[in-house]
Amino acid sequence: MTIPSDAPAAHTALAHSAYPRWPLHPQPLPGETLMSWLARTSALYSLINTADLLDGLGFESPGVDLDRYTPEPVLDALAQRSTCAAERLREMTLAGCTPWLLDSTDPAECDFDTYAHQFSVLLPAGLAMADRRRRAPPAGMWLPWVSKLDTRACPLCIDDLDTDADIAVMMAHQYPMLTSCTKHHCRLEFCSVVPGRLVFWERTPAGSDDHASPIPVPVPAVVAEIDRRTAAALTSGSVELGAGRVHAAVWFRLLRTVVDEVSTPLVRTGWWAKPLSAIWKSTGHSRPLRTSWVPFEQLRWDEQAKVLFAAATAIIAVENDEMAASGADACLLRPRRYEPVDPGTAPTRSRSPVPARSAWDGVIAAIDAAVAAARVDSDAARSLFGLARTGCRTEEDIDELAYAFVELGIRLDWD
Ligand SMILES: [Zn+2]
Repeated sequence: MTIPSDAPAAHTALAHSAYPRWPLHPQPLPGETLMSWLARTSALYSLINTADLLDGLGFESPGVDLDRYTPEPVLDALAQRSTCAAERLREMTLAGCTPWLLDSTDPAECDFDTYAHQFSVLLPAGLAMADRRRRAPPAGMWLPWVSKLDTRACPLCIDDLDTDADIAVMMAHQYPMLTSCTKHHCRLEFCSVVPGRLVFWERTPAGSDDHASPIPVPVPAVVAEIDRRTAAALTSGSVELGAGRVHAAVWFRLLRTVVDEVSTPLVRTGWWAKPLSAIWKSTGHSRPLRTSWVPFEQLRWDEQAKVLFAAATAIIAVENDEMAASGADACLLRPRRYEPVDPGTAPTRSRSPVPARSAWDGVIAAIDAAVAAARVDSDAARSLFGLARTGCRTEEDIDELAYAFVELGIRLDWD
């Protein structure tokens, strides 16, 4: 990005004459994206579109997503043409959410492991690191919480607008960490938005045109609660947790950690498989199989919604002491209790509890032996699969079982 040759390099009194103010310039709505605001501005004029508003600002790269990153000289020029400060306009882009939501809008500067695994909540830190690497996207190819851009909106919020001029694209609705409208607790619905004019809904009531708002679908209470915190983090920069207030940066990383933890295949979680499986069971969904090797951001929206439901269920269960959580940072979710300072204890290497020995150890040793035999002997593999299959009720269960066998290194191609 270069500053146009006719624009002054520094902010001086003369700078205001470089870009004359637009006669009509609506104020940005809370949470609106930059491109939505520009589109609503151009909607006030006839025969002018968003590209015309950007013309002459020295921005020559069509196809670049200004909602992700807008060069500073363009922000300055837009600030001069409207009555908004460049700072306010930057907040309407993803770049304005760095470094608290994400470290950078350049994937080369976003490290998956640093973002998703600096915390541990449900599972002990370091558990199944080899497995986690399977879900890690190639370096330089990933931004946290950024998926293929699809627009969503709340049908009730759109119906409540006094004027079509306020129809806008909200930044929080573009990213998959939010499932619902935090005002109406209903699911965000996919749509195409023409800012300042109208909304085309992907799902419409039977027999109506595509401008009719879809019937709202309520979301589970745990999802509404987690979304409330995410919205608070986006708007106020902090979230109240059991242990106290945490910065938005902590909330988004903590949530991404739990998203990754509930995506871990049960066979990789050993002692912690039981609470994880209870979480999925209570959501009424099975874990989408692709979560084992596809980063959350690259899942389909319906898969993302299931993972977020499981993550929300897990967080609330930990807070209510209904789930054993062995991560070092689970304490952030629980109410802070008074603990006298121990003056003489050296810090230990791991804060993970060591499971006590029990009669189950013998059973586990027998299972380990059966698995070891099945890896090298197809008869043993067939027997073990037959035995395990008796617990399967659906085709999906059998798929999951087969996947678990493959993960354990047991071949299933017997015939
Ligand atoms: Zn709403």
